[in-house]
Amino acid sequence: MAAMLLKGGEAASAVMKEVAAGVADLARSGYVPGLATVLVGDDPASHTYVRAKRRDAAKVGIRSIHHQLEEIPSQEELEDLVNGLSADPGVDGILVQLPLPEGLDEGRVVGCIDPRKDVDGLHNENLGRLVAELPGPRPCTPAGVMRILSHYDLPVSGKRAVVVGRSFLVGKPLALLLATKGADATVTIAHSRTVDLESLCREADILVAAVGRAKMVKASWVKPGAVVIDVGINRTAEGLVGDVDFAEVSEVASAITPVPGGVGLMTRAMLMSNTVSAARGNISGLGGVG
Ligand code: NAD
Repeated sequence: MAAMLLKGGEAASAVMKEVAAGVADLARSGYVPGLATVLVGDDPASHTYVRAKRRDAAKVGIRSIHHQLEEIPSQEELEDLVNGLSADPGVDGILVQLPLPEGLDEGRVVGCIDPRKDVDGLHNENLGRLVAELPGPRPCTPAGVMRILSHYDLPVSGKRAVVVGRSFLVGKPLALLLATKGADATVTIAHSRTVDLESLCREADILVAAVGRAKMVKASWVKPGAVVIDVGINRTAEGLVGDVDFAEVSEVASAITPVPGGVGLMTRAMLMSNTVSAARGNISGLGGVG
């Protein structure tokens, strides 16, 4: 393997150290941050994610307030629950685990989260703040990708980045973060209708795959020396694999994130970081997540 391994565990533990220091700081003012998690339905992957997030919270001293709704609620019931958490002064951050079961309108549910408690950074107000380059919570996975790049001192400015995937959760916000002032990459967003995706990807200095198709990105798609970030998580017979054919691509890329052990760990760490920022905003009385 020629490529440097971008270890999510290593970068995430640096973030978690900052988070623990932030929690300790708040504790000195007698404040313990609270993160509310809302899990609807019985999707095994969602259960695993929420369990991991609650474990992370416990590790750093963040209180977790968990709502597990095995029986699918009505849209109104779910909105009432989230509105209640938004109004609850004991809750600093709210995470509604997505995707919600079919029939529930995710946009409307996320819209009920007080934007100051929106630790996933997915409320329209916070997505607007991202576009406007105003401070605010950034979506955790894109923020985690930016952090892993900076953790390993990988230059972004002036680089040609291709982000494959245009979801509001990953692809679009990540493209904005890469292009934002200070990061300064030149970014192309590719998607399911992109023509000749392989050639486009081969132009990238930084190639991000956020699609959900196991091992889609092959060595022939990658410019020699490119940095490859694999956001994909695919459950296959051989276990968890990313969107990148790791064995092939790691022979061509200069740096690559593994799956598992890459971006997923960063996502979780950024959630904790956003929760501490939300708690700081809460006790300062100013509101808003820095
Ligand atoms: P999504 O289904 O919302 O979006 C997938 C995107 O891929 C779409 O924009 C679509 O246009 C594009 N796409 C689909 N087929 C394509 C093709 N053949 N060629 C090019 N583009 C294609 O998914 P998402 O929520 O953005 O998640 C993407 C992947 O990232 C999934 O595997 C998901 O599990 C994973 N994910 C990982 C983390 C993490 O923390 N590591 C977080 C969120 C999502």
